[in-house]
Amino acid sequence: MTQRQPEETAEESDELSRRFETDTIHAGQEPDEETGAIMPPIYATSTYVQDGPGEDRGYEYSRTGNPTRTALEDNLAALEGGEHGRAFASGMAAINTVLNLLESGDHVIAGDDVYGGTHRLFRQVYEDYDLSFSFVDTTNHDAVQEAICPETELLWVETPTNPLMRVNDIATLSEIAHDHDALCAVDNTFATPYLQRPLEHGADIVSHSLTKYLGGHSDVVGGALVTDNEELDEQFGFYQNSVGATLDPFACFLILRGTKTLSVRMDRHCENAQTLANRLADHPDVDTVYYPGLESHPAHGLATEQMDKFGGMVSFELAASIDETADFVSETDVFALAESLGGVESLIEQPATMTHASIPRQERLEAGLTDGLVRISVGIEHIEDLWDDIEQAIDAAVA
Ligand SMILES: *Cc1c(COP(=O)(O)O)cnc(C)c1O
Repeated sequence: MTQRQPEETAEESDELSRRFETDTIHAGQEPDEETGAIMPPIYATSTYVQDGPGEDRGYEYSRTGNPTRTALEDNLAALEGGEHGRAFASGMAAINTVLNLLESGDHVIAGDDVYGGTHRLFRQVYEDYDLSFSFVDTTNHDAVQEAICPETELLWVETPTNPLMRVNDIATLSEIAHDHDALCAVDNTFATPYLQRPLEHGADIVSHSLTKYLGGHSDVVGGALVTDNEELDEQFGFYQNSVGATLDPFACFLILRGTKTLSVRMDRHCENAQTLANRLADHPDVDTVYYPGLESHPAHGLATEQMDKFGGMVSFELAASIDETADFVSETDVFALAESLGGVESLIEQPATMTHASIPRQERLEAGLTDGLVRISVGIEHIEDLWDDIEQAIDAAVA
């Protein structure tokens, strides 16, 4: 495991620089001064008493600020190695806040395989506000360059992408954006800051669906933005307060509970995913395995540089028809048939009939989303139970 925050970085700060695993548990969270409570309390309050008119003690109203939310926001900022964090009601609310920075006439470039909800927000909401979008293969830097126009203000990047686990080069894409005075935002939901910290590679904004690995237990919906840029953070705060899609203190508490175990969960997610990817690659009924940790992955080298490990998401192509594949995902027992990802429990889905069913078949096939494609979110169960489950389901479903 690479060390992310070597002691040398302590020189500028009075505090001893701490490593990631310690920050997951302590950053942003001081024991309560009055009671010693080691966990930040859930501040279930809408308003705060003032000592005199305009003399608040740091909080006025909970849409604007709440101490439980502050603890989470500081925690997330520390994990991404950023200065400022903001928590929102969902990942989509966080992404929406980035779009709030733009004005009508502006142009955005995004990956052609971005999260479906992101694609929908861009095309079905913001095109009506006279923003324009180009969806391109962001692994092809010439295509990104060609898509840039004078109105381009934002480059939206995911890595690894869904469901084919393409790996995008954050440093190069940030440079391309900056050469044209545009911002580069990275949706870091799949990797989490334990594996990849986009700000270190030059990105301006990191966005998260906290619903996934950061929450980690499939029991809460939330989102976040992190940046080093104070001006951007002020704008995020303005829109957070003006739009009002803030994360409530109960949800903040649950996410803080999740981030404490992020590193140990991710270690197991990654270990299980790597083992399954290796074994699937050797299985006679499996054609292709998409996992950045496999040497056969076209961007394995880049992934090795950019990420500390390769994540818990694996996709693979069964040598099977659309019906056989639908049977396969229904036959698993430990893997639950469900969309979403990032929880401790393993999930399985068939993009052709589930997450990507709305794409016309020909277009879907051209995008590499074949009938036999299966996506798994590998949980932290015992690896042999996961493998037994996949083997028995292939035997039951594939002729
Ligand atoms: C789930 C997800 C989102 C949206 O987050 P919500 O919390 O569901 O609103 C955005 N990006 C990625 C990559 C996701 O997986």
